[in-house]
Amino acid sequence: MAKKKSSKINNIRTFALSLLFIGFIIMYGGVFFREHKIVMTLFMLVGFLAIIGSTVVYFWIGMLSTKTIQVVCPTCNKTTKMLGKVDICMYCNEPLTLDASLEGKEFDEKYNSKRETKRT
Ligand SMILES: [Zn+2]
Repeated sequence: MAKKKSSKINNIRTFALSLLFIGFIIMYGGVFFREHKIVMTLFMLVGFLAIIGSTVVYFWIGMLSTKTIQVVCPTCNKTTKMLGKVDICMYCNEPLTLDASLEGKEFDEKYNSKRETKRT
């Protein structure tokens, strides 16, 4: 599980962009089923929905951006946006935390979930 970590907003942005591409690919795929009007319509519809979904995700990023906290990354000295208690720097992928008790600990996504901390 050596998944490369990046900041949450960057992750969502990547997701929205890939959704947009997938939507176009699906719609383009529908062209190959020109003889089957129903299949083509289905492709177009699914592709269209993916593009709509990506628009919604982009809108969601906009909403999330208003809730982020701007911090100056101690590693690269750039101003980055943080979402939640822990996040990763958008520029150098350095894990950042607002909670002093978590400082120095390994980055863990579950620190953001209140339910997880209650269970322990
Ligand atoms: Zn940084």
